[in-house]
Amino acid sequence: MTAWRDLPGSERAKYLYRIARALQERAREFAVLESMNGGKPIKESRDVDLPLAAAHFFYYAGWADKLEYAFPAMTPTPLGVAGQVIPWNFPLLMAAWKLAPALAAGNTAVLKPAETTPLTALLLGEVIQQADLPPGVVNILTGAGATGASLVGHPDVDKVAFTGSTEVGKQIRRAVAGTSKHLTLELGGKAANIVFEDAPVDQAVEGVVNGIFFNQGHVCCAGSRLLVQEPVFEELLEKLKVRLGTLRVGDPLDKNTDIGAINSRAQLEKIGELVARGVEEGAIMYQPPCDLPDRGFWFAPTLFTGVSQSHRIAREEIFGPVLSILTFRTPEEAVEKANNTPYGLSAGIWTEKGSRILWMAERMRAGVVWANTFNRFDPSSPFGGYKESGFGREGGRHGLEPYVRLEPVS
Ligand code: NAP
Ligand code: MG
Repeated sequence: MTAWRDLPGSERAKYLYRIARALQERAREFAVLESMNGGKPIKESRDVDLPLAAAHFFYYAGWADKLEYAFPAMTPTPLGVAGQVIPWNFPLLMAAWKLAPALAAGNTAVLKPAETTPLTALLLGEVIQQADLPPGVVNILTGAGATGASLVGHPDVDKVAFTGSTEVGKQIRRAVAGTSKHLTLELGGKAANIVFEDAPVDQAVEGVVNGIFFNQGHVCCAGSRLLVQEPVFEELLEKLKVRLGTLRVGDPLDKNTDIGAINSRAQLEKIGELVARGVEEGAIMYQPPCDLPDRGFWFAPTLFTGVSQSHRIAREEIFGPVLSILTFRTPEEAVEKANNTPYGLSAGIWTEKGSRILWMAERMRAGVVWANTFNRFDPSSPFGGYKESGFGREGGRHGLEPYVRLEPVS
């Protein structure tokens, strides 16, 4: 049997297209399972996770037979075995982000989903079997952190790709130091969503809400720090409070739910602890009246005003439905505050002025900058961080690079 890496790219593409189509065909089943898996609202798993996961396989299927064009004047060859460790916030989508480029480029993969969210990765494994991929090309390995550590440390792994916390990212970096393993890390974030006084306010309110409450705020690129220009602060805050009052928290499988369940008890405790710290440090908390179900892990949508840059809620990734609001006067001050973080994954800019968007985007130390929108993803668009948000890009042509060795065409 021909090895996966030696198949013509057009043959590898066929398998990837099959996986993409199967994800579309079984989208409902996957969406329900994903909401049961991690607690996210069904309208998000249905409208975001599933379409994007399928799109990712379609997109990289398209590259599989065009790798020589992805890297002009270079000859790309696969690295070998990719060891991939993913988190619980987008269990299927992260599996797609990891597997699709690795396979397109001719690598094989061992993927470890998070302990709390293995279900959709396992169903994807079944889809991959049905797509008739050669045995051993994709391996799904369930288990906890220790399993991830064994995978990362395994001598036969040539490339490690990790998405998760900065803390574990640092451990992994130490673990592969001094080996020939290639490494990419996609870690945490504390993104600034910046609203200027000339922004369309109602649109900005929607963008801010989506930015922090999408997926219960379990999003590495969440807009968790809102920076508002002083003249529009009062108006924006009033509108945000009203909008928060309309968010429905509860059953992830109910199509009307906006905010689903917190993924685990541990994550709920972490959110609660940081919120308590925010109150202790003197920030002012606001939560709308909100009925939470009696069973399960829930957290009401939360705003903090009176936040200063030194507060923990302004510095640390909360990874929950909690927004810290700060103000600024000038664009220079917005830049300084936005970049005043060890992270650098994403940023949002809300303004009517195109020139200001460009001026700001140039100055944001963030891998992704959205303008007058937030949390938009597309498989053709690279995603990744600066500083403690990690390195390496996923998505787009850039997303192939971590999975190939490049040599000049001889
Ligand atoms: P995490 O510990 O970094 O987990 C991410 C993945 O790494 C999981 O599959 C995890 O397995 C695995 N893992 C844990 N320890 C490992 C080790 N020593 N070597 C290799 N793999 C290991 O993240 P978490 O504990 O679930 O969440 C903690 C915080 O991380 C969150 O509060 C949030 O701030 C951040 N986070 C960021 C992202 C992101 O997308 N950037 C995603 C999730 C969490 P187990 O889950 O089975 O332990
Ligand atoms: Mg952990």
